[in-house]
Amino acid sequence: MIRAAELIQRKRDGEELPDGELAELVLGYARGEVPDYQMAAFCMAVYFRGLSPHETYVLTDAMIRSGETIDMGTALGRKVVDKHSTGGVGDKTSLAVAPIVAACGVPLGKMSGRGLGHTGGTLDKLESIPGYRTELTLDEFIAQVRDVGCAIIGQTGDLVPADKLLYSLRDVTATVDQLSLIAASIMSKKLAGGAQAMVLDVKVGNGAFMRTIDDARRLSEAMISLGRQAGREVVCLLTDMEQPLGAAVGNSLEVREAYDTVRGHGPADFSELVLDACGKLLAFSDLGIDEAEGRRRAEAAIADGSAEAARRRWIEAQGGTADESAWPEAPVVAEVTAPRGGYVCEVAAIGVGNAAVHLGAGRRTKDDSVDHAVGVICRAKRGAQVERDEVLAEVHARDEVSAGIAVREVLGAYELADDPPRERPVLLEVVD
Ligand code: URA
Repeated sequence: MIRAAELIQRKRDGEELPDGELAELVLGYARGEVPDYQMAAFCMAVYFRGLSPHETYVLTDAMIRSGETIDMGTALGRKVVDKHSTGGVGDKTSLAVAPIVAACGVPLGKMSGRGLGHTGGTLDKLESIPGYRTELTLDEFIAQVRDVGCAIIGQTGDLVPADKLLYSLRDVTATVDQLSLIAASIMSKKLAGGAQAMVLDVKVGNGAFMRTIDDARRLSEAMISLGRQAGREVVCLLTDMEQPLGAAVGNSLEVREAYDTVRGHGPADFSELVLDACGKLLAFSDLGIDEAEGRRRAEAAIADGSAEAARRRWIEAQGGTADESAWPEAPVVAEVTAPRGGYVCEVAAIGVGNAAVHLGAGRRTKDDSVDHAVGVICRAKRGAQVERDEVLAEVHARDEVSAGIAVREVLGAYELADDPPRERPVLLEVVD
């Protein structure tokens, strides 16, 4: 018998819970034996009291055991690498990294989630491609990674069902931003997904779950420890999320930008992060090369068109239209212009992200649908020098009214000053 009320009370009072009972609580919740109200109270107790590193491991292990696991390495007879981001505004990195790494001869199979709030989800972005199938069977998924080199699909219902339930519950009970719960949620999916080595992009700043570099370090250390205990190689890239990544925010706009980057025409900050991630992934792979060589090969795949060829193969294999002229476009495009001349010293990621959500690019509740065409393109980023009336950003909207509201919101995210801001790189720190 699961004594949920007693476990809630013990966690509320700051006790460390016994392994077996903590695991049973999670497994019982996944089986429908523990009601939402008790699990919600438990999450809130964890929110205030935290979990020890050992409890976090027990929680993660139980979440993995709630469903199926995949052994991609054995299925492919290759070492398989994976990449994940904790979520941010304009974060379309996986869309560019997957075909570049595949073009370099390293298989990449990824299961992704949908976005909630101002952080967009990879799946929503991919669904802006007409025909793209996000729901492959596990066999189709593995076959595509083997034959085409990469695949990105939605998380199958059988993989970590406990996380699906818990994440939705946390989302409506203000318990998402708890470090141990985030680490267990991300790592249970990554470990169940079967990659032997992974690059985790931990976003830091006003547009991310982790607001400070210290919190990002703590989350990274927790995830690395969970990975090592499961015998996997993990590296965390702590990256800036004070301003949106790249220029585009919004589903189809982001997919276009990711694919411009695959062809070598992406924004500087985004291209840099994509190459950092590719270098690390290729160094983790079975190619037997170091990071500098990995980065060089990624650059070469972009320059010689093999990354673009891999992108087309991947999108077409998943039923999508690789030709961008068929992708959704918003009917109204409005400009956000500078009210004065000067330097852009801030483009608040949270402000731009919320404007995109209000335009319809993101969800306010998990049952909302998403408008794939709308969003924001930040033409001027931090450090840019602009004249009065110069275009700072473009709003892509469904109608004039929502465009007008978004123009004001995006303008509110910009701060202009007389002097240039201090430079801030996109890659802040590496934790391994
Ligand atoms: N991403 C996840 O997958 N889980 C969390 O808890 C937070 C971000």
